[in-house]
Amino acid sequence: MRKLIRPNAPNFLTEKLQIELGERYKKNREKNKGHQFNYWHTEKVGESTLYKEIRNKLIEISDDHCFYCDGYPPLSDDDTIDHFKPKSKPEFYDLVCSWENLYLACGHCQKAKGSEYNDLILRPDEINYEFDKFFKYDSDNDEVIVNLGADDLSQLRAEKTIEVFDFNHVGLKKLRGFFRKVYSQDPQININDLGYRFCLNFQQTI
Ligand SMILES: [Zn+2]
Repeated sequence: MRKLIRPNAPNFLTEKLQIELGERYKKNREKNKGHQFNYWHTEKVGESTLYKEIRNKLIEISDDHCFYCDGYPPLSDDDTIDHFKPKSKPEFYDLVCSWENLYLACGHCQKAKGSEYNDLILRPDEINYEFDKFFKYDSDNDEVIVNLGADDLSQLRAEKTIEVFDFNHVGLKKLRGFFRKVYSQDPQININDLGYRFCLNFQQTI
């Protein structure tokens, strides 16, 4: 999970609109469990839709990398918008279009996280979040591991985050190994053209 800085909400996603859409979804969802949040596909922003424009803004933040695993480039089921606090949980209905709750996610992370939520899960744009503070990179195995030098709560959060996103899935480990190889062969390459940027500088065994 690479640190990200989230700018303020884009102008078209006003505070008023965030609240209005949240309230509308909450009201409808409470009446009908099967109600789907699809307003952002019909809500217009110029010639485009709210969904597309929000997604574009999220893409700018991470250079089109998954906010959680930093996977890149996006494939067909990637680049979707994840609700960090799941829209399926009644306590979060009103956050369904809240800027701070929207994350660009790849298919792997969407599937791994599902509708799981607890306060321990780290966010890449959380204040004071730094990869090194919570994690270490084991370059022998291409695994993200807990920083055992961190305090107990940070270790617990790191452990939970690795588990929820299944960061050490065999496919992700292989991809990180691949990108590290590409980077070591051409250190001048633009790292934004590579995936899993947080692991690229870890060349030594921990
Ligand atoms: Zn991901």
